[in-house]
Amino acid sequence: MSQGNDLVTSLLRPEIIALKAYQTEDASNLIKLDAMENPYTWPAGMISEWLETLRQSEPNRYPDPNAKKLKTAIRKCYELPDSLELLLGNGSDEIIQILLMAISATNTRVVAPEPTFVMYRQIAQCLGMNYEGVPLREKDFSLDLERMIECIQRYQPAVIFISYPNNPTGNLFAEEDILAILESAPGVVVLDEAYAPFAGATFLKYLGQFGNLLVMRTLSKLGLAGLRLGFLVGSPTWINQFEKLRLPYNINTLTQISAEFALSNYEILRTQTQQICEDRAYLFEKLRTMDALTPFSSSANFILFRLEHADANQVYENLKAAGILIKNIANAGGLLSNCLRVTVGKPEENNSFLTALDGILSDHG
Ligand SMILES: *Cc1c(COP(=O)(O)O)cnc(C)c1O
Repeated sequence: MSQGNDLVTSLLRPEIIALKAYQTEDASNLIKLDAMENPYTWPAGMISEWLETLRQSEPNRYPDPNAKKLKTAIRKCYELPDSLELLLGNGSDEIIQILLMAISATNTRVVAPEPTFVMYRQIAQCLGMNYEGVPLREKDFSLDLERMIECIQRYQPAVIFISYPNNPTGNLFAEEDILAILESAPGVVVLDEAYAPFAGATFLKYLGQFGNLLVMRTLSKLGLAGLRLGFLVGSPTWINQFEKLRLPYNINTLTQISAEFALSNYEILRTQTQQICEDRAYLFEKLRTMDALTPFSSSANFILFRLEHADANQVYENLKAAGILIKNIANAGGLLSNCLRVTVGKPEENNSFLTALDGILSDHG
């Protein structure tokens, strides 16, 4: 056994040994408000129609390696011009991996404002790239443009990731700040628009204008997290290179058929995301009335809040004991100290969360 351990440490790259695997909590029997999922399923008629389309699938055959029909559906749904190319990934996580694999080389740097989505750092480091986080402003999690530009000048990053809106803070950075970053970046700037369905803002319109801009989307937060489909939009000059690294059958048959079907019923998904946005406003107002915490205004389908007079770890555990799972990010430290993140669920789920939280906080007080 110890010989096995020696072999592992001698064979594996030190950056792999140093990594911590991505952790998720078991949500069985809990109200699940931890992972930014859309809580709604589809109307019964739509489910029957979907199952009919699956009947035509041939699981004995390999999927279409180019996912042609799905790409056509995406182009139509998002009104993408023919001048732009599309890369599909098994979730946008895989897109981040493909993109960084294509660019990684000794001494390349990846930069992102922090706190942000942890996979940028995780994937960069496991590819042996240097990662630099640039702290957001403490007051409102806005982009500190001066520090960003300073960091760009010092490190000449090959890649900059900007989550727009940002996870886990929920805010949209100022458009003019991002434009300034696009102007001064020597490498590519990836706008990660995972939460676009809740934000009403996008950089897709700038793709023709900046040759170093790439826009990444996912269907996960829109309501199809289980299908695992993300995509990257940009000029063919970039995308055709990344395509070489994509494993031929990364988008399976069931995902291709189901995602195409879902996008052809986009109105249903839009109705659901609009409902989520309304409930986000309600949840935010309720959280704002609680003295023990400060909620941060969000353009995504979750709300970050900081406990002011209670211990976040304790509140998190008490919520879980009350049957409600949210995300504990209090131990990430820095600007996230004593912070928790709740996903906007169905109205009754949000109310259960609010009632439980109120009870826990008044017990503390
Ligand atoms: C959830 C999330 C993703 C990951 O999306 P998948 O397509 O499910 O892999 C990417 N970026 C951000 C900022 C996210 O919050």
